[in-house]
Amino acid sequence: MRRRPLLDALFLDRDGTLIAERGFLAEPAGVRLAPGAAPLLARFAAEGTRLFVVTNQSGVARGLTRWDEVNAVNAEVERRLAARGVPIAGWLVCPHHPEGRVKEYAVACRCRKPGTLLHRRALRRHGLAAERSAVVGDKWDDVGAGIALGAFAVHLLSGHGREHRARVREKGGGRVILAGGLADGLRRLRAAAEGKQG
Ligand SMILES: [Mg+2]
Ligand SMILES: [Zn+2]
Repeated sequence: MRRRPLLDALFLDRDGTLIAERGFLAEPAGVRLAPGAAPLLARFAAEGTRLFVVTNQSGVARGLTRWDEVNAVNAEVERRLAARGVPIAGWLVCPHHPEGRVKEYAVACRCRKPGTLLHRRALRRHGLAAERSAVVGDKWDDVGAGIALGAFAVHLLSGHGREHRARVREKGGGRVILAGGLADGLRRLRAAAEGKQG
């Protein structure tokens, strides 16, 4: 029988985490993968960890980006990762924002991070355990979702990470793994998960 992976699921934020933060990115040509992260992601995937991208795309609600633009950027990210041996098991996208101006998306939803609706749905669908999962991102929204799930929570200082540092420190306490960028965060996450495993 195959060995159980170190982690069941890895929930990765998109902007400022998996790719460079560009502010409501609508152009696939603007995709820049986080440096050095692909081999580390490929290792997790090869071990059997499912990789999900969880992204708040309020630009859709705000009328700043269209669904087809968001999907085109996501497809480009997926293509670039696949070329480096990194399969994405699912895209979890929240298009909402309570103050949006596109009526059908201008709602307070439960899927916008730090809400965990999308994470929980993916865990259920794939039969994965929240406590054997990790959430990685540059904002409190990511870290807060991870804490709410009882998963490992990794806060990156890339993207908007520095602006969110104080909030993460205040609300997340000692449970949060702090890292520079995605590659650093994945190394620290692996060490923490191996430590927990004993
Ligand atoms: Mg982000
Ligand atoms: Zn939502």
